[in-house]
Amino acid sequence: HSKAAGRRQAIWFETSMEDALVSKRRIERELREALRTETLEVHYQPIYDARDQSISTCEALTRWRHPQLGYVPPSSFIPIAEETGMIVELGEWVLRRACRDAHLWPSAARVAVNFSSRQFQQPDMIDRVRSALDAAGLEPSRLEIEITESTLMQDTEDAAAKIAGLRAIGVRLSLDDFGTGFSSLGYLNRFPVDKVKLDRSFVSELSVSSKTQAIVGAVSLLTAELGIDLVAEGVETHEQRALLLAKNVHLMQGFLYSMAKPQAELAQMFSGVARGGKLKVVA
Ligand code: C2E
Ligand code: MG
Ligand code: MG
Ligand code: MG
Repeated sequence: HSKAAGRRQAIWFETSMEDALVSKRRIERELREALRTETLEVHYQPIYDARDQSISTCEALTRWRHPQLGYVPPSSFIPIAEETGMIVELGEWVLRRACRDAHLWPSAARVAVNFSSRQFQQPDMIDRVRSALDAAGLEPSRLEIEITESTLMQDTEDAAAKIAGLRAIGVRLSLDDFGTGFSSLGYLNRFPVDKVKLDRSFVSELSVSSKTQAIVGAVSLLTAELGIDLVAEGVETHEQRALLLAKNVHLMQGFLYSMAKPQAELAQMFSGVARGGKLKVVA
């Protein structure tokens, strides 16, 4: 009995390994095709100031709707793009699109673009950023680049030089998924970033953990002291919003406010601003 079960399990395991391999190869092939035919999309998720509902930045998030595979989430294709090196091309495509789209928004709104380590570490990264800004006619101060702690950790000297280079052309820098890496606090001193995005895991634990509340409070005090903007990621409930405000965290991104929206919807939302609607856009 147990032998047969073991065999079944082994067979099942082999088949699923094979499936995983096939689908990985397929995603790789299809992603290359999607890049070639430009069938990827970029959506934008606003970051709100909970004090007055104003929007300062919208984050570019890549969306892929495949005719057969359906919606493929970034968590399925970004790692494959990183592994194969396609991420450099994909990232540059997103950057150029995001700069063009942001050029059509009210000038007080910035766009944030995620950069993978490999993309950030390209020797000509800064030239590529400058070229995307020039092509779109976008003010460098309206672009934020989001990197993670692990990108900083890989080659700290190169990262420091890249950050200095970006700041020299006026581009802003944001530290994404903050608190999930190793480095954290020491890095805020070492790398001059403009914004820190507190990882969603802290926000989701806020209501059940007084320790998490203490950590968020400490990060809030520290970033305020250092003159760094602090954004809470993944805010889903009014309770989380209230707990964050109690810790003086007022910049929020999450489903409570808005999911990522296509450019057309965003444009409509921004036109409500011009009509003097409830939505405000501040610098
Ligand atoms: P991220 O940069 O930390 O982006 C935030 C992710 O959290 C997004 O997932 C967003 O849709 C999701 N999110 C926002 N609010 C909430 C919320 O209230 N609750 C929950 N459960 N989730 C929320 P998405 O779009 O699936 O992207 C996942 C990750 O993939 C991103 O994490 C980013 O690391 C990466 N990614 C997406 N687009 C790009 C890209 O163009 N380039 C690179 N290098 N990475 C990208
Ligand atoms: Mg991000
Ligand atoms: Mg994030
Ligand atoms: Mg995240």
